[in-house]
Amino acid sequence: MGTAVILTREHFSVAEGGSLAPGTLLETAPCGAESGVPMASLSRALRVAATCPRRSRTRGLGLRALTGQAGPAAEKSVPYRRTLKDPQGPSTVARGPSQPLPSTAHVVVIGGGSLGCQTLYHLAKLGVSGAVLLERERLTSGTTWHTAGLLWQLRPSDVEVELLAHTRRVVSHDLEEETGLHTGWIQNGGLFIASNRQRLDEYKRLMSLGKAYGVESHVLSPAETKALYPLMNVDDLYGTLYVPHDGTMDPAGTCTALTRAAAARGAQVIENCPVTGIRVRTDDFGVRRVAAVETEHGSIQTPCVVNCAGVWASAVGQMAGVKVPLVAMHHAYVVTERIEGIQNMPNVRDHDASVYLRLQGDALSVGGYETNPIFWEEVSDKFAFGLFDLDWDVFTQHIEGAINRVPVLEKTGVKSTVCGPESFTPDHKPLMGEAPELRGFFLGCGFNSAGMMLGGGCGQELAHWIVHGRPEKDMYSYDIRRFHHLLTDHRRWIRERSHESYAKNYSVVFPHDEPLAGRNMRTDPLHEELLAQGCVFQERQGWERPGWFTPKGTAPVLRYDYYGAYGNRMHEDHAYGRLLGDEYTFDFPPHHDVIKKECLACRGAAAVFNMSYFGKFYLVGLDARKAADWLFSADVSRPPGSTVYTCMLNHRGGTESDLTVSRLAPGPQASALTPAFEGDGYYLAVGGAVAQHNWSHISTVLQDQKFRCQLIDSSEDLGLISIQGPASRAILQEVLDADLSNEAFPFSTHRLVRAAGHLVRAMRLSFVGELGWELHVPKPACVPVYRAVMAAGTKHGLVNAGYRAIDSLSIEKGYRHWHADLRPDDSPLEAGLAFTCKLKSAVPFLGREALEKQRAEGLRRRLVCFTVDEKVPMFGLEAIWRNGQVVGHVRRADFGFAVDKTLAYGYIRDPSGQSVSLDFVKSGDYALERMGVAHPARAHLKSPFDPDNKRVKGIY
Ligand SMILES: Cc1cc2nc3c(=O)[nH]c(=O)nc-3n(C[C@H](O)[C@H](O)[C@H](O)COP(=O)(O)OP(=O)(O)OC[C@H]3O[C@@H](n4cnc5c(N)ncnc54)[C@H](O)[C@@H]3O)c2cc1C
Repeated sequence: MGTAVILTREHFSVAEGGSLAPGTLLETAPCGAESGVPMASLSRALRVAATCPRRSRTRGLGLRALTGQAGPAAEKSVPYRRTLKDPQGPSTVARGPSQPLPSTAHVVVIGGGSLGCQTLYHLAKLGVSGAVLLERERLTSGTTWHTAGLLWQLRPSDVEVELLAHTRRVVSHDLEEETGLHTGWIQNGGLFIASNRQRLDEYKRLMSLGKAYGVESHVLSPAETKALYPLMNVDDLYGTLYVPHDGTMDPAGTCTALTRAAAARGAQVIENCPVTGIRVRTDDFGVRRVAAVETEHGSIQTPCVVNCAGVWASAVGQMAGVKVPLVAMHHAYVVTERIEGIQNMPNVRDHDASVYLRLQGDALSVGGYETNPIFWEEVSDKFAFGLFDLDWDVFTQHIEGAINRVPVLEKTGVKSTVCGPESFTPDHKPLMGEAPELRGFFLGCGFNSAGMMLGGGCGQELAHWIVHGRPEKDMYSYDIRRFHHLLTDHRRWIRERSHESYAKNYSVVFPHDEPLAGRNMRTDPLHEELLAQGCVFQERQGWERPGWFTPKGTAPVLRYDYYGAYGNRMHEDHAYGRLLGDEYTFDFPPHHDVIKKECLACRGAAAVFNMSYFGKFYLVGLDARKAADWLFSADVSRPPGSTVYTCMLNHRGGTESDLTVSRLAPGPQASALTPAFEGDGYYLAVGGAVAQHNWSHISTVLQDQKFRCQLIDSSEDLGLISIQGPASRAILQEVLDADLSNEAFPFSTHRLVRAAGHLVRAMRLSFVGELGWELHVPKPACVPVYRAVMAAGTKHGLVNAGYRAIDSLSIEKGYRHWHADLRPDDSPLEAGLAFTCKLKSAVPFLGREALEKQRAEGLRRRLVCFTVDEKVPMFGLEAIWRNGQVVGHVRRADFGFAVDKTLAYGYIRDPSGQSVSLDFVKSGDYALERMGVAHPARAHLKSPFDPDNKRVKGIY
């Protein structure tokens, strides 16, 4: 172990076109040797590499100089036996399309890589007749042909586990059954390496989640790992996670079988046919819709286009005026010569060394993710079956880690290098769904080096989205409409965040991690005020929102330092970075007690929460009442002055949002607080992280239903301060010019009042289960109103509190968090929110029929609250055991300080397939499995904290 190794280009005889000559050996430390510095560790190697003069044309300073301007190198041989590569030459486009173009099509898929082929196949399977795939060159010629093709089944997301399972099913079973073709799937297993405790903890979490999905996995000791993989160095291991049914996909075999199967169901694949334009029409209601796809060889009229153009997706988006926030980067692996004894070994991911070792017949492919990846700035549309020259200065950093893990690599030659383009996105999640700018224009791109393994699952969801108007699963994290529209063409934000995505590709996914890139994009008027008081911010869709308040000084988020890459100086004294480092644990963080203080102050006195980042919309107009009746599951058409907590559903009865809706009286004059309107008016307050999603959902429904009303976004014009706790009334009574008694200002009502002389909308509501009011405040008045509240509150024990406290307080009270314990794949009935549904009325609403059907048939799963007496932190993904069987997994968990217990919420099913009755819930013996250890748990039908809801009514 610890062999001093570093590689540079000079150690290889470089073949024409830049490949390494076969038989070249991986040798030791030339750069270090040159500079007389012995290499002892990866970090040392990195430092020395950084001090070595760069040899390539990328030499020099900063990002620009390091970007890939040179374009593709000559083609290189890759070790696949079955590529679809044309031996005649790189381009076949000149020959014209491989088939005549139809004049019309229901759907046109652009791009014949993993995503395009999977989408076409799943569209055909859903019965879409005559879907057409247009590929500029030949199938797979973009990124797909040179993929490493690794498929791992376990990721720290339940939805991703399901998506991966579907891909695996398609390539290992379905396609072969349908076509008789072997896709090239190899089930050689997967092995994740842990070199520290946190990493092994993460694997144990994955193992527990896997149990909820029937994914077999085993945590192995170093000795057991050695027995499984004799060529592995296990001296520095904590342990490993072995997943026997992981494997490797073959890109050519997979795409051939997919398109063959799709064609058999009537789909058409047309190669050598670049799309050159998207024709758009504007309908009678002013909505932009796709009309046709244009090519050099004619156009196809279609209402629906799917952009699966990989790193070219931004260019295709531009043709339609659609923003596609991704960047293209170089990603590479090298293929070794034969290694005796490597046959049949599992693929390896050594996350801590940031390298992967993929079995390649009797050799290995070695790749990794570095902190200084090369951007491909000028994405060329001439690039087909091409590769870049490998930049050894960049790739070198992976070699020591690889050799450390499998020492025989040190004496093994390199057969070829594979460096190709891949897309990365600002949050490391793909870009899918219908673009907000253009109806009928879908995205299926931005796959962050997981587009093979996610391809099947995502192709299926995209097809469902197109055919049924929404995906089957909860795809919010992948939906392009998650991003705020101000960010999707913000170059710095996209670039910084995508860089961080790449650099952290193999980082442990900690529950409270935050990005360091692209921060301070959107701040509210209280930002500086709170920063000065120790606010530690979280980032949500560009907004900075309070996480918690440190008593130890201030913690500003500094400009992104690219982790020291590209000649940037790393911040040496970054208080925020240090505090974030404290979160890198699956234990309680060191500031657990600080969050506890915020929570208990709220329960015992009062806390002020700055929630200004909330989305604040007005829905007004002649049809606003009709629209509100249809959009909201609860009856919101109550008299002006009422506020209602409600859900918005999709047609399958899944929950697209939960929000509060306040009925308005027409205002005397138009202002941020009182919009002028004809007809009816409603004020909507939604979580800021999901504001764009809400906006898009509402807009789409308004368009589809042709309601005559306007949706007005006042999010940036209004702040939101919420004062919660038993002392809130006494505090606010000093600040507001209104009677705050129960009689004069009951729960669930709102009115315009003056706060410290400023007009604000006060709303009696609680999201933490206390007496409290929200103040919706015009931007210029935020600071004076906040200061007045703080001045009045000091003697009552009022404190600042952040979203970490909200998370804890709300779970303790049993309030749902959208996209945690309430998602588009959960119905309000399953989630215990039947009270938000006006099923007793005769009023039709979106999702009603699905709910009625579900109620008649009985609930197949139910959200259940669990408490755990042992003081163990939980974060979600833990397996739920009932009477010795796994019946679900935890969606959301946190520590509740008033009940002094861990609380967890998860949906449970009856393994017999019966509906889940309340008796079923009550009768079981439960345990929650955290990192492989089962902790006894108690199930509750009602929130264990204040189950009678006294506190929100002011009864203490
Ligand atoms: C070195 C490397 C290793 C990788 N290893 C893995 C791995 O182990 N596992 C994994 O899951 N993923 C891996 N990936 C990522 C994975 O390969 C990609 O995410 C996936 O192949 C992307 O597929 P795609 O269909 O989105 O894009 P592409 O394969 O690039 O397909 C896009 C297609 O669109 C076509 N096109 C572009 N513009 C037009 C136009 N105007 N008209 C018509 N057609 C057009 C292009 O010609 C291209 O064929 C790896 C990537 C790289 C670079």
